[in-house]
Amino acid sequence: MTQPELECWQWPEEVWRGKVDRVRAGRSLKPKKWKNGARCAVALSFDADHETNELRDGGQSVGRLSWGQYGTRVGVPRILKMLKREDIKATFFVPAVAALLHPEEQKQVIAEGHEIGLHGWIHEVNTRVPPQNERELHFRSADTLEKITGVRPVGMRTPSWDFSEVTLQIQRELGLLYDSSLFADEDPYELIDKGEATGMVELPVEWIRDDAVYFNMNRFQALRPYTGPETVFDIFRREFDGAYEDGGLFLLTMHPHVITYRSRFWILEELVRHAKAKGDVWFASHAEIAQYVKDEAGL
Ligand SMILES: [Zn+2]
Repeated sequence: MTQPELECWQWPEEVWRGKVDRVRAGRSLKPKKWKNGARCAVALSFDADHETNELRDGGQSVGRLSWGQYGTRVGVPRILKMLKREDIKATFFVPAVAALLHPEEQKQVIAEGHEIGLHGWIHEVNTRVPPQNERELHFRSADTLEKITGVRPVGMRTPSWDFSEVTLQIQRELGLLYDSSLFADEDPYELIDKGEATGMVELPVEWIRDDAVYFNMNRFQALRPYTGPETVFDIFRREFDGAYEDGGLFLLTMHPHVITYRSRFWILEELVRHAKAKGDVWFASHAEIAQYVKDEAGL
C-alpha cells in the first residue's frame, strides 16, 4: 500500500529540513580584492537560446522561430562588435541544439576570446526531465559544445534557473568549475550538496538583473514589456553601483533576442561606459571569475 501524500503542514521535521538542505549556499567566496586590485567584478552573460525557446515549447510557430533567428542574425553580431570595441570578455550560455544550428557563431565567440557555458540540450525545463535523461542530456550537451568549439565547457546555467533532484550531482560528475543558476547571495559562494562541501562555485543570478524579465512579450498571453528602457538602465546601474560600493560582483544576464534592439542596446553600452569610468573594475568571463575566487579561497 502506498503512503498518502502528506500536506506540507503535516511534514515531520526531517522532511522539511531535508528539502531545504538538498542544495545550500556554503561559505562566501567573495574575495578581499578582485584581480589586479580591482574593487568590483563585472560578469556579462548572454543566454543565446535562439530558436530553442520555441522548440522547447513545441516548435510550431514560424514567427517565433524567426524571432529566435534574429538572435543569431542581428543580436550576437551586435554584441560581439560591442565587446570587441570595448575590449571586454563575456560568457555565452548556449543550448546544444542552438550550437548545432549555428556552429559558426560558436566558433566565432570562442575565437574572439569569450566563454561558452552549458545551457541544456534544447533549453528543456531540466526540472521536469527524468533523472537518467537529464544526466544523458547534460553530458551530450557538453560533448556537443566541445566538438563544435574545441573547448570543453566548465560552467552551466540551467535552462530553468533551477535544480532537479540530480542536477548538482550531474554537474559534479561533469567536473564543472561553477554553476550560475541560483540565488542565495549577490557574491560568489561554495555549493553545498546535502551537507557536503563541493568545491564548486556558484555565481548567483537574479531576475532583477535579467533583461527578459522587463522586456519579454507573448502574443497570445497577457505578457507584455512592462518597463521602459530608461528604467531598466536605472535598475541595472543601481545594481552595479551597489556591487561597486560593496566590492562585490555585478552579474548581468541578457538575451541576444531581447537586449539588442535599437531602442535598447544603449542600456548595455551605457552601463559598460559607466562601469569603465570607475577605473578599477574587472570585466571577466564567468569561468575567469569562478577560478579567481576559488584560488583566492584556497579551494
Ligand atoms: Zn535560456
